[in-house]
Amino acid sequence: MIYLDHNATTPLCKEAKNAMMHVMDETGNASSIHKYGRSIRQSIEAARKNVAEVVHVSPSQVIFTSGATEANNMALQGFAGRTIISSVEHDSVYQARSDSLICPVDQNGILDLETLEDLLKQDTGPTLVSILFANNETGVIQPMDQIVSLVKRYRGRVHSDAVQALGKLPLDWKALNLDLISLSAHKIGGPQGVGALIVAPDLALKPLITGGGQERSFRSGTENVLGIVGFGAALQSHQSRKWDNTARLRTALEEKIIECCPEVTIFGKKVDRLPNTTNLTMPGVKSDIQVMNFDLLGIALSAGSACSSGKVKTSRVLQAMKVLPHHLETSVRVSLGWDTTESDVDFFIETWKRLFDQTHGKVIEKKGM
Ligand code: PMP
Repeated sequence: MIYLDHNATTPLCKEAKNAMMHVMDETGNASSIHKYGRSIRQSIEAARKNVAEVVHVSPSQVIFTSGATEANNMALQGFAGRTIISSVEHDSVYQARSDSLICPVDQNGILDLETLEDLLKQDTGPTLVSILFANNETGVIQPMDQIVSLVKRYRGRVHSDAVQALGKLPLDWKALNLDLISLSAHKIGGPQGVGALIVAPDLALKPLITGGGQERSFRSGTENVLGIVGFGAALQSHQSRKWDNTARLRTALEEKIIECCPEVTIFGKKVDRLPNTTNLTMPGVKSDIQVMNFDLLGIALSAGSACSSGKVKTSRVLQAMKVLPHHLETSVRVSLGWDTTESDVDFFIETWKRLFDQTHGKVIEKKGM
């Protein structure tokens, strides 16, 4: 089975696994002042330092959470003021507040800056603009520098869900001039159920969870030590990963598919995208049929968005990009990993052609006939 669904989750890397196994043998609550507690505290703080170094912030700005869903909810719900979000946000931003103003995107999935400016002008009160750094369904990267400078001109604050960008694109806090960043461990080889919110030192946020005052009272509750340690270790090893080869494989994949069937549409192809993601149509073959058949033929991938029940639902992201209905119904997302090989991609292309030919009634010649 070949795994081409790395934007959904990635395999746990051996560095994270080893670090977690090691800390599993320890006892202690990080809030206890005795030796056991202090040792656990040290492990948590070492991981916090790893996260802080990657985004170039002070460790005190890193708030560990149960994942990016919680970090996104915390950023939006905790902000005292109005919120503006894009139409292509992940559901954890999209549904965090029912009063968020929605800013549209163009056909390539890039934020409409003119409308954003109009929305910013409408009200000079405290405003948080939340924009996905890189889209999980299409890989489209937003022009964050332009977005941030526009919002700052109107004295707004900016949050970015950088889950898919982490480890693939530079995330330098100072250069980006962001106020809040959400991260998740399981997209970079860390464990599921842990993430972080990076918070600007001067930004007040109302916590979602109150109690013991852990995480500088931003997020009460005894820390998920295993998860946090795994996150720190995964980040460290992820930093050395290079994506040039993945980008080359993704380009080759797209070129070969287009060569075989020029009617294929690739979403966001004209703009900057993550090096590992392609969201493409198979003319005439519905997304769920493709996902099921690829699975039977040994390839794990997904339709743009899979809801928690496991059913394929129509992609809100592609709808926001105003793609044609027959493209919407026939799209799937392929997301490569840092260890995806050329032969994995060749197998995908072969399988894609086979499925396309089968569903279009062409005779498949067996090898050697
Ligand atoms: N934002 C984006 C862009 C994502 O891809 C995901 C994971 N699907 C999340 C947020 C949610 O992250 P988590 O699974 O850590 O809650």
